[in-house]
Amino acid sequence: MTTKRLIVFCDSGDTLVDESTEIRDERGVVVSARLIPGAGETLRAIHEAGYTVAMVVDGETESFRNVYAMHGLDRYADAWIISEEVGQQKPAPVMFETAYRKLGLTEADKSRIVMVGNNLKKDIAGANRQGLTSVWLDWSPRYFHTFEEPDWIPDYTVKTPAELIPLLQALEDKINLCQAPQLTQPQ
Ligand SMILES: [Mg+2]
Repeated sequence: MTTKRLIVFCDSGDTLVDESTEIRDERGVVVSARLIPGAGETLRAIHEAGYTVAMVVDGETESFRNVYAMHGLDRYADAWIISEEVGQQKPAPVMFETAYRKLGLTEADKSRIVMVGNNLKKDIAGANRQGLTSVWLDWSPRYFHTFEEPDWIPDYTVKTPAELIPLLQALEDKINLCQAPQLTQPQ
């Protein structure tokens, strides 16, 4: 049941899953990993609040299946867009275009899509170039922490997954305010 207009595209590594805890098998597939504190509860809350969620992620399908099943989170995403299947990684436009196609979205829907991720070069630049709202989850010490290019600058920054819940609600309220029907003028 979807009751919100806002659509959430979400990264996985160092956004929901703590990459430093990943254990890989001999083929390089992640067999287990811990979540960032609060990430599981946040993903469930976002889903239960009625937002559409698409995981837009770089890696192997089997790795995501293992980790999300392990934490009981596999049912909380409406779509999975995985680089191994798409053939390119973020910030490649095809990753985002695949998400639009899987969710039946068009150009007109971009104003109500947010991309949440930890990686300025992949998630934030990718979203900004698409015209989406970008949310940087600045939790992990890994990867980039300086805005090396103008399009690496996020629209919003949060420090923990839990901070996403009020931010998404504020963005949802903003959309509904913009799209509220015109009041009828009294005769
Ligand atoms: Mg990541």
